[in-house]
Order: sequence, then structure tokens, then C-alpha cells
Amino acid sequence: MKIGFIGTGVMGNAVCLNLLKADHQLWVYNRTKAKTDNLVAKGAVWCANPKEVVGHADLIFTMVGFPSDVEQVYFKENGILTTGVKGKYLVDLTTSKPTLAQKIYDEGQKLGAKVLDAPVSGGDLGAKNGTLTIMVGGDEATFNELKPVFADFGKLAQYFGPAGSGQNTKMANQIMIAGTMTGMTEMLVYAQKADLNLEAVLKTVGGGSAANWSLSNYGPRILKGDYTPGFFSKHFLKDLRIALDTAKEMKVELPATTEAKKLYEILVDEKKLGDLGTQGLIKLWWN
Ligand code: NAP
Repeated sequence: MKIGFIGTGVMGNAVCLNLLKADHQLWVYNRTKAKTDNLVAKGAVWCANPKEVVGHADLIFTMVGFPSDVEQVYFKENGILTTGVKGKYLVDLTTSKPTLAQKIYDEGQKLGAKVLDAPVSGGDLGAKNGTLTIMVGGDEATFNELKPVFADFGKLAQYFGPAGSGQNTKMANQIMIAGTMTGMTEMLVYAQKADLNLEAVLKTVGGGSAANWSLSNYGPRILKGDYTPGFFSKHFLKDLRIALDTAKEMKVELPATTEAKKLYEILVDEKKLGDLGTQGLIKLWWN
């Protein structure tokens, strides 16, 4: 298939490699051009802006950082929706606002495009290994048409309902992760104070009923002093803010998630450590 990809960072770059491996033709654009060099070396074609990507491809993926970046690549100068998109598939893989997903869907519909919101879970390793979980909102017929492409970089793609439902599912996912990241961090802080063997603690706790993805993936990175992202803390704070704003609109209180957001605000806004991976939360206790 002729695929366009906008946003080739940690996640997007790895997804692109899997799309190339699956023999798709690829046109790529990223704000920092150097992050497409490895893809161009493998046969992808560089484009100067999102509009140019749309000109070549039948299916355009976006995987940028923040909702403001999504606004930029869809609606602003040389954006996706400023050019002919009739009959094309537009799929946003960014973790972004459910309301923005609805806005892109509505605008896309008017122009004859088929739009999905499809945020992912599974981290940098899931992206590299092609084993992401993909949470999809939009029209079910469009989802069914794209299932084979989702299978090229994900192990599970699940349809959840109208535009924004993929993003709402991802918010539910992030509410869960808020608990596992703060739980893992406080568990390690406590275990260290109690003079326990931390490697043995990770292995033992991770083999019992407290087992979870954050523990098994980020616990060992912390013990090695590896705080590289993975998943940027600044992006996790973005997600917690979207989840809590949306919960507020739905008149639901989430006190534990609110507490997690406060901790990540200290890490990102006060300590300016937003470029660390989410495992960097432990730096609020450890130097
Ligand atoms: P990232 O490395 O920062 O990648 C985002 C890329 O988008 C960057 O290369 C950035 O360019 C590019 N970009 C941003 N605005 C742009 C614009 N206006 N035009 C063109 N390119 C633009 O972040 P990531 O870890 O891949 O995450 C991407 C998204 O996936 C985020 O929403 C994140 O929350 C979500 N996510 C991440 C993970 C994970 O484990 N990392 C897991 C699931 C979901 P520059 O290089 O110039 O900054």
C-alpha cells in the first residue's frame, strides 16, 4: 500500500520500520528531518511537509507528540486537511484528546476522507517488535478495511466505537498506568529503605500477584540507572491531564490519578525532567 507517515520519533520511527518490512511504499515527514534518515536509507521517500505526504499516499498515519502538534499537522499551513484527501485514509496514532479526534473526523468527513483515531500501547519495545495494542475509534467499516495494515505493526487492534473512542480507551489505559508507575516507584523506595536486595524484590514481586508491565519493563531500567525514554515523562503528564480534563467533563472524580498527575508535575514542570522516561519518577526520591 502507498503509506504516508508524519512524526518519526521513538514510536513512529519503529512503526515505519515495520511497515517497510511488510513491503509497503512509504513517504515520510518529521519536523526534525534527521529522524527520517534511517528510513530513507531503507527506501522511504522524504517529503517537505504533510501536504506533500498526502499527495503521494493513500493512507496517512500521524504520530506526533502533543495535541497541539496534531492540530498543526492536520489544520495549519500545509496541513493534511488543507489539500485533497477525498477517498484517503487518515489515521492518528498520537495519544491525543478525544474531542480533537472528533474534530478531525468531522472535518475529514466533509472532505470525503476516512478518519480513525488509533492510539497505541506497548511502549518503545512493542513498537520495535511490532506487537503494539491499537485502540480504534471512527467508522467500523474503515477499521475493517485497515485491519491488515494494523497487523503489520500490532498484535491486537480493537474497535471501540465512534470517533474519539480510541482516545478514550487510551485514557483508560493511562489511568491504569498511573497506578502501576506510582506503585512501582513507591515499592522500590520502600524496599531500598528496608535494605532489601532490589533485584530479588523485582523478581519476586514481579512473579506474584503484584506483577505488571511497568514493573517488569521499567524496574530493571531503574536498577541499571537507565532513565532514557521509552516513554517521555512529558508525554505521560500530557496524557494524565487529558484523562483528568475529560473525567471532569464527565463529572467523574479520580483522586489517585490526580495524585499521580501532581507527582509528574513536580518531575516535569518543577524539576524540568520531562525528557526522562516515565521511570524517572523515582528521582523525586533518589538522586
Ligand atoms: P517523540 O519521540 O517525541 O516523537 C514525536 C515526533 O513527532 C517527533 O519526532 C517530533 O519531531 C514529531 N513532530 C511533533 N510535532 C510535529 C510537527 N508539527 N510536524 C512534524 N513532526 C512533528 O515521541 P514518541 O515517544 O514517539 O510518542 C509519540 C506519541 O505516541 C505521543 O503522543 C506519545 O504520548 C504516544 N505514545 C508513546 C509511547 C512510548 O512508549 N514512547 C507509547 C504509546 C503512545 P521532532 O523530532 O522535531 O521533535
